[in-house]
Amino acid sequence: MTQFPDIRENIELVGLNTLHVPARARFFVEVRSAEELVQSLDWAAAENYEVLILGGGSNLVFAGDFAGLVVRLAIPGRRWEHIEDQSATLVLGAGESWHESVLYAAGAGYRGIENLALIPGTAGAAPVQNIGAYGVELCDCLESVTALDRKTSELVVLNNAECRFAYRDSLFKQTPGRYVITEIRLGLSRSRPLVLGYRDLQEYLGDTPDCDLNPLQVAEAIMAIRRRKLPDPAILPNVGSFFKNPVVDVGSFESLRERHPDIVAYPQKQGVKLAAAWLIDQSGWKGFRNARVGVHNRQALVLINHSEGVGTDILELAATIRESVVKRFGVTLEMEPGIVGEPVTGHS
Ligand SMILES: Cc1cc2nc3c(=O)[nH]c(=O)nc-3n(C[C@H](O)[C@H](O)[C@H](O)COP(=O)(O)OP(=O)(O)OC[C@H]3O[C@@H](n4cnc5c(N)ncnc54)[C@H](O)[C@@H]3O)c2cc1C
Repeated sequence: MTQFPDIRENIELVGLNTLHVPARARFFVEVRSAEELVQSLDWAAAENYEVLILGGGSNLVFAGDFAGLVVRLAIPGRRWEHIEDQSATLVLGAGESWHESVLYAAGAGYRGIENLALIPGTAGAAPVQNIGAYGVELCDCLESVTALDRKTSELVVLNNAECRFAYRDSLFKQTPGRYVITEIRLGLSRSRPLVLGYRDLQEYLGDTPDCDLNPLQVAEAIMAIRRRKLPDPAILPNVGSFFKNPVVDVGSFESLRERHPDIVAYPQKQGVKLAAAWLIDQSGWKGFRNARVGVHNRQALVLINHSEGVGTDILELAATIRESVVKRFGVTLEMEPGIVGEPVTGHS
């Protein structure tokens, strides 16, 4: 017999977000199956509480306490389906660690997600912002997502096209609160080409011919590069890139380049993507710190909680950085992580 999930009251979330900011959940539950998820959501609806879906808390800023029910997705499970000569589908429960799953797939010789090694968080959250790194995005190999549609209270299977993936964007971001992902399916292959085009990766791998590399070696190279460049949230709490790289039209880019000939940018199908880190660095923020929070000294896109900062400290710093980038370049940066909760009282 399934037990009703254990809904607890007044739970501290400081250890459940990688920025390590304090915030309390009025109610909190950890769900390990789709059935427990439905029961928890029904309880919240009956009590008229708002719901926050939480994975690893690596892409959220708690501005303060959450007055409703925080549902932590801890649905386990890893299995292979449709194993053929060269290809297979890896099915992951939403609560599985993303990084551990990358190592699991790469260790089995399957290619497709090795460049996404060391991205923190859960498998269930990976489609939400279509995680990407080193030339690969989740949408390159995602076959489908199983999700609870909160509008109809039914489990639905959404294929890749239905997920409406774009740069750090998806259906799940475009319709906030509607879908809760319970499982994802990844189409992997032993023979697809490795993606080794990024300069850092090429430098790290040196002269090793591509044919001598396996996906685990690529994942390990990515991990070494990331460890060199990005702060470990366990030591310097952060949520990775705080801003998206802004895309501007070609005309705006040309006039920016006239004034700033060394601007870092990447041509896109439509428009030009500017390196947000360069814009922030040029505005003088790299390495900045005040009493509690700051900007990482090697990667200007990463904001750090140095010493018991609260969510609003981080958000105020982010707002000041945005203003100064607008002033200098006329470009508005968009935040990557989501903001949740009411401003904290009694934590400062
Ligand atoms: C050091 C560091 C490096 C990072 N590097 C990268 C990078 O290279 N590329 C990149 O793309 N991201 C990166 N990130 C951001 C982050 O790791 C990813 O966005 C990750 O997928 C978030 O997973 P999570 O489980 O922590 O999600 P959370 O932070 O818990 O949640 C994020 C959002 O997804 C929603 N959500 C969570 N689980 C589900 C679910 N099962 N169903 C529906 N909605 C859900 C939440 O409500 C929230 O809106 C980095 C973060 C850190 C701290």
